Amino acid sequence: MNLRLTGLAKRYGAVTAVDRVTLELVAGTTLALLGPSGCGKSTLLRLVAGLEAPDAGGVAIGDQDLTRTPTARRGFGMVFQDFALFPHLDVGANAAFGLVEARVPAATRAARVRELLALVGLAGLERRKVTELSGGQQQRVALARALAPEPRLLLLDEPLSNLDASLRESLKLELRSILTGLPAGAIYVTHDQGEAFTVADTVALMRAGRIVQVGTSEELLAKPAGPWAARFLGHDNVYDTAPQGAHLPVSDGALLLRADLTRLGEPGTGATDVSVATAAREGLAWRLTLTAEAWGVTVTWRGFDRELPGHPAPGASFGLQVPPEAWRSIGSDA
Ligand code: ADP
Repeated sequence: MNLRLTGLAKRYGAVTAVDRVTLELVAGTTLALLGPSGCGKSTLLRLVAGLEAPDAGGVAIGDQDLTRTPTARRGFGMVFQDFALFPHLDVGANAAFGLVEARVPAATRAARVRELLALVGLAGLERRKVTELSGGQQQRVALARALAPEPRLLLLDEPLSNLDASLRESLKLELRSILTGLPAGAIYVTHDQGEAFTVADTVALMRAGRIVQVGTSEELLAKPAGPWAARFLGHDNVYDTAPQGAHLPVSDGALLLRADLTRLGEPGTGATDVSVATAAREGLAWRLTLTAEAWGVTVTWRGFDRELPGHPAPGASFGLQVPPEAWRSIGSDA
């Protein structure tokens, strides 16, 4: 059954942390709450969990209103940034914690813990002290613990943010495959768009307590809801007013140039000539800033050597070939 949030609001004194959020999570899917620090993601998650009481609005699963149901009776599992394991218990006892609370018989418990530790890649480590585990392993134990009682919803708050970058990369792919196989839905809070796009089926973009846009990663990237969303999602070429002389259809508000849909050719072969202002290596790719003098704008362009008509030394001149679909009118911010 779907989780429905209706008009949820929460204030702390003068700060409106969550501002009338209405959102639906389709059962069995993962929704990321993505936004900059302080935009209200954790507060929204805590309202869903019942760790905070809303000033207005409600939380329901199917027809069941949970707005006043205590956290322990919502049937949700939670994973936090700081793992929050019990240091005096071993891996098995940590993973079994919710099962002991639910008075699950010992034999069933042991089988379930074995199954979950295998799922999270910790098979056979039942008797290991959690204090002897790496950060990544500790977070896997926390995940196993949250999943053990078969929650109907899993809530994850920045679960990878205390891990180093390479571990985050591999764990987010693993999380994706673990969450995809679960009957429970999940809400995943993160400020990192790469994590949101990898782990979630649907992304809800948040700003200043409000949901700005909801969609798949493809939808958000192709049609950002405004200049703020476009920039936050990593688009480099967002123009608040249309570049002069670019022969664009008249439109209100901001314009996005999808540089990934453009090509560089010899000078004179494109919509406009550009000159290389800066050229920087990003691993095997180049990141160029190109001055489009006739348009009065700078275009950031990324690509590989084989996509370049010549060496991109500063001052080099290229023709920027722009198919019509590379321009998108994205309106203004609400
Ligand atoms: P995020 O998770 O997106 O970083 P939070 O939900 O933690 O954002 O915070 C949203 C806003 O609410 C921030 O301005 C924060 O300072 C404020 N806030 C959060 N929790 C509390 C609290 N317990 N007391 C007072 N202000 C809070």
